[in-house]
Amino acid sequence: MSNQEVTELVAARKELDKRFKEKERELNEFRRHINTKALEIESRLAEICEHSYTRDSYAYAPLYCSHCLLEKEQVLRLLRSRQINS
Ligand SMILES: [Zn+2]
Repeated sequence: MSNQEVTELVAARKELDKRFKEKERELNEFRRHINTKALEIESRLAEICEHSYTRDSYAYAPLYCSHCLLEKEQVLRLLRSRQINS
């Protein structure tokens, strides 16, 4: 194996790590964006839906709204944080 080949392989290996990190950064930005949008939608739903809570029949199933599908705990948390932020 030539020194030249080693140098090239090391560079190629580093390039893979670099590309992976770039994609990871893009994915993290996208995740932040989606989470922000989801929170906006959920906050609005918590506020305007006429919630009707139900639960599935398995043990410790959470109460959730049959209209907006948010869990009751989530609705209360969203409404509380809305009051704090306004
Ligand atoms: Zn609801």
